[in-house]
Amino acid sequence: MSILQNAIDSIELGVEDHKSNDPKRLLSAVRNFYAGILLLFKHKLALLSQDDDEALLKQRILPAEEDGKIVWKGNGNKTVDFQQIQERFKSLKIKVNWKRLKKAQDYRNNIEHYYDKEKTKPEVVQQYISGCFIIICDFIRTQLNEDPKGLFESEIWDSLIQENEVHLADKRACCGAMEKLEWISDVNLRMFDEFICPECGSDLIEPIEDDSTEAAEKSFQCRICDEEWSYEELLPLACEKESEGDHSIIMDGGNATFAYCPECSEEYYHTIDYICVNCGAEGPYHCLRCGTQIPYEELSVDDGGMCGYCYHITNKDD
Ligand SMILES: [Zn+2]
Ligand SMILES: [Zn+2]
Ligand SMILES: [Zn+2]
Repeated sequence: MSILQNAIDSIELGVEDHKSNDPKRLLSAVRNFYAGILLLFKHKLALLSQDDDEALLKQRILPAEEDGKIVWKGNGNKTVDFQQIQERFKSLKIKVNWKRLKKAQDYRNNIEHYYDKEKTKPEVVQQYISGCFIIICDFIRTQLNEDPKGLFESEIWDSLIQENEVHLADKRACCGAMEKLEWISDVNLRMFDEFICPECGSDLIEPIEDDSTEAAEKSFQCRICDEEWSYEELLPLACEKESEGDHSIIMDGGNATFAYCPECSEEYYHTIDYICVNCGAEGPYHCLRCGTQIPYEELSVDDGGMCGYCYHITNKDD
């Protein structure tokens, strides 16, 4: 059987699994969708390997001589793992929405190792399926040049469309309720939209309706497991999610996502969006003495609006 057919079978099994409310079948749905995506990726590598040697699918590729030309041959039985697929795609300039895929991968890992499997919610699996569906359709269209609808049984295709639409409608409702909060900045809004409930993995977080007019009075809840957070509790959790990639950014010489805010002195100043997600203070901040943009690590309430160097010089003169 072809790798492509295996991929489609795996995804179709996942759809069947999700129809059940049994936690074991739900876990199986998650595994089957993930396996299906990896198989789609492997199918692409097999296509690109041209001859039936499927060299790009193998972990080891060695150069060989054929009719006086150097060709690359797969070696051994081991096939590529996820990380190698990612490396090969990047070097072959094959586009995948890695951010969306990371989300799906995180959920799969959490459900295997962290969340209580017995309490798996079909709605959260639906959200995962919706995310996978978008990756799958996009990849089949742009990388395999096929119409995804034609590859699936029509009944399965209809339920995929339906699952996706139900989740997207729920997500839109949550985002809409967040947008109605008058005090919320665009950056906070985006961070809250991307926030994932640490209890159940749902991205359906909404403000609890009440008469409050200020952030500090507001509470939020997970639509699926009913976990609640005050604004003060939600903000650091959302910031943690926002700065998830910081380790590798800093290793590459970049800035951390958050720095100390020169106005409220909390570590909530967003270094990419130039806004404090806590007090709303807006940057970027330029030194009052020399005019350069103040480096993030030098931002402080006590700097008199100056960069570290000018602050030092000015205070030396006094
Ligand atoms: Zn939840
Ligand atoms: Zn601030
Ligand atoms: Zn300066």
